[in-house]
Amino acid sequence: MNSQTPLERPHQPLLCRGLEQALQAPPAGEENTRTSALLNALLEDALRERASDVHLDPAGDGFRIRFRIDGAMIDTLQLSPAEGQRLVRACKNLAALEPGVARVPGDGRAEFRVSDRPLGVRVAVTPTVSGEKLALRLLRAELTRLSLNQLGLSPSDYDLLRRAVQDARGMILLSGPTGSGKTTTLYALLHEMRHTSRSVVTIEDPVEYVVPGITQIQVNPKQGLTFAEGAKGLLRLDPDVILMGEMRDAASARVAIDVADTGLLYLSSLHARDAVATITALRNFGLQDFEIAASVDLIVAQRLVRRLCVKCRRAGSATTEEVQWLERLGQPVPAETWQAVGCPQCSMTGYYGRTGIFEVWRLNEEETDLVLQHADEHTLRRHLRRSGRASMLDDDLAKVAEGITTLAEMQAVGGLGFYAPSEPPRGTARPRRTATAARSRVRPGAG
Ligand SMILES: [Zn+2]
Repeated sequence: MNSQTPLERPHQPLLCRGLEQALQAPPAGEENTRTSALLNALLEDALRERASDVHLDPAGDGFRIRFRIDGAMIDTLQLSPAEGQRLVRACKNLAALEPGVARVPGDGRAEFRVSDRPLGVRVAVTPTVSGEKLALRLLRAELTRLSLNQLGLSPSDYDLLRRAVQDARGMILLSGPTGSGKTTTLYALLHEMRHTSRSVVTIEDPVEYVVPGITQIQVNPKQGLTFAEGAKGLLRLDPDVILMGEMRDAASARVAIDVADTGLLYLSSLHARDAVATITALRNFGLQDFEIAASVDLIVAQRLVRRLCVKCRRAGSATTEEVQWLERLGQPVPAETWQAVGCPQCSMTGYYGRTGIFEVWRLNEEETDLVLQHADEHTLRRHLRRSGRASMLDDDLAKVAEGITTLAEMQAVGGLGFYAPSEPPRGTARPRRTATAARSRVRPGAG
């Protein structure tokens, strides 16, 4: 049922059945009325199928409608050039964008009422070689408003994080590439702190949504309010906890050290491929080993993978290619793995929702000593593996063994290849969690 192959994108015209029906309705009334009915039907389809984005891609013979569901693009209906252009024009008009054909990328915001509920949509238009491409981002705050126990953390990682939020002084850092769910985790940590008696202030760009009970400030570089400047000002507000949306340069890293030095708790996110690489990123921002060792309390590295749809997933075994891939990484092959199938419940994708895969590292004395001695990534990573800490790869394999996600998803996430052992794996003596051990997890079904 699911026709997904590496070369062919899944193609599911049924996802746009509302729009299809509206297209087939006999023309009645004005053209504008018809266009807004089509647009409404399209957004209803998108909301029903849990799409976060809707793209109208110009193709030689019209416009292809694509939905992004759980992070993956899925092709749906093909529109005629005339119908497609009418929808593009209507969206640009609602978002107050230039009516003519765009020569440079532009974006705006439009407000809709879909199924009797307000829906904010960010409308972006880009000129391409085949014509104007339209991208709609549906702003649905409920997708990111998760609490700490809904992220897919293992019970031990969950406990570690909760305790760190309650008693940490210094720095908690979240690392991962764009779209790895760092912001969702940061907000979940904030929600956790809302119930404590501490004063929490944030400086963000942008403020994605408002959390009651904390003070949030929006970065505004044009007015001189950068992350670094803003955080200095925040200290005057007498906070206990400061959250800076992103640590992006030497100036903001310097502020982070100053904040942590004053005995406050500092939270932020940055780009690094795993927990250990976060130390390298801080060094690259010009921080000294002694500053990092004295300040950094806990690092969370993460990625997002799609969760298998429990209505249609099918048990099976790993393919030859997957087995070879796991062997290259020096990982055991799970006895049983699961495959995505596809059913109406999951928009025929085989997946429903996403979950995080995590590496949570709270630095102990021995590890801060290693940082002080300027240990490189390789040394630190080997130390963590030898002391039995779970990597993102371990967490992912455990989720594969439990039928939460697939090996295919794990491969699609990419960037985990650096866990491959540089020395031959030492058989069963390696101190690590086994992928086949079934473990209970904290509310993994929150998709
Ligand atoms: Zn399904």
